[in-house]
Amino acid sequence: MELGEPDASGQRKPVPVKDSEFELECDAVIVAVGNAPNPILTKATPDIELTKWGTIKADAETGATSKPGVYAGGDIVSGAATVILAMGAGRKAAAAIHDYLQNLPAKHGTKAS
Ligand SMILES: Cc1cc2nc3c(=O)[nH]c(=O)nc-3n(C[C@H](O)[C@H](O)[C@H](O)COP(=O)(O)OP(=O)(O)OC[C@H]3O[C@@H](n4cnc5c(N)ncnc54)[C@H](O)[C@@H]3O)c2cc1C
Repeated sequence: MELGEPDASGQRKPVPVKDSEFELECDAVIVAVGNAPNPILTKATPDIELTKWGTIKADAETGATSKPGVYAGGDIVSGAATVILAMGAGRKAAAAIHDYLQNLPAKHGTKAS
């Protein structure tokens, strides 16, 4: 690809370079492109509600999912985004998880802390 001519907004978009494709002999190919959610996780937990895009439905403030005690945040909730958003979601979820654990019925005579 190469950057094309600027569009009306001044943005230059990538355009294919004609006849630039080539073949490479390989023993194994690991595809590591794209930023869709990893389906292994969501398939392994079919009782967690998903959006139509295959991301996990979670409360924006707490990260709570449809499964009690399970919290989610980051790209698996928002779709491809940024590290700072994932960190923010993690921080909110940590506080919500703390509250959740504090309010669990006491086990073995002590409250979870
Ligand atoms: C090429 C590229 C460039 C980017 N550049 C930037 C940038 O410059 N700035 C920026 O802010 N953001 C950038 N991003 C986006 C950023 O990387 C993501 O938004 C961020 O990493 C999301 O964090 P996360 O914790 O939600 O997910 P991830 O960082 O993807 O973490 C998910 C983790 O879960 C693990 N996992 C998956 N399935 C399972 C399972 N079944 N069991 C156990 N573990 C599992 C994975 O191995 C992974 O470690 C970029 C993304 C890409 C792909």
